[in-house]
Amino acid sequence: MTKVTYELPELPYTVDALEPHISRETLGYHYGKHHRAYVEKLKSLIVGSRLDGLPLEQVVRKASGALYNAAAQSWNHEFYWRCMTPRFRADAASPLAMAINQQFGSFAAFQAQFTQQALNKFGSGWTWLVRTKEGLLAIQNTDDAGNPLRRGRKPLLVCDVWEHAYYIDYRNDRAKYLKAFWNVVNWEFVASNYLPQWAGGDKTREMISV
Ligand code: MN
Repeated sequence: MTKVTYELPELPYTVDALEPHISRETLGYHYGKHHRAYVEKLKSLIVGSRLDGLPLEQVVRKASGALYNAAAQSWNHEFYWRCMTPRFRADAASPLAMAINQQFGSFAAFQAQFTQQALNKFGSGWTWLVRTKEGLLAIQNTDDAGNPLRRGRKPLLVCDVWEHAYYIDYRNDRAKYLKAFWNVVNWEFVASNYLPQWAGGDKTREMISV
């Protein structure tokens, strides 16, 4: 296997692309300072470790302590950027949309439950839509750098609920940020994560192999 190097991935859009929902200033800091710092930390901590050179996802699954935090925050942020798009398109017909309707009753009920869970997250962390080992959808929060891959759950969608994700735009008003977040969700990406197998080749699909 080719040895992987760890670099800050490019944003999938320009830094002002999510305005007015997420400002250029927020994205500039969040990507350019926070995400970059996690990747730099990862690069410095992984040198000499037995995990050096493994794909990032494998590092997230196997690392512990500070290296885990840096690796998971690197992975989580790349995934979060890909969960958003300036070209929002509702997605009513995909297998994921059908599963959402079946399991939550309606898309609105799913959205309300995800939003409530994100509002209930105390302290820094992430709110996820995942596919469980049993093949069901679940909404879960993780603390700090936490990543559902650790429990064998496949991430489909994530919302960053660390204050740094919204403080510039919405101050302490997480509810307003969540409302804005729904306007930029990349349902095409989220739906593709639900597919049982990857078509291959596409980098976005190579991020996870649960
Ligand atoms: Mn963040």
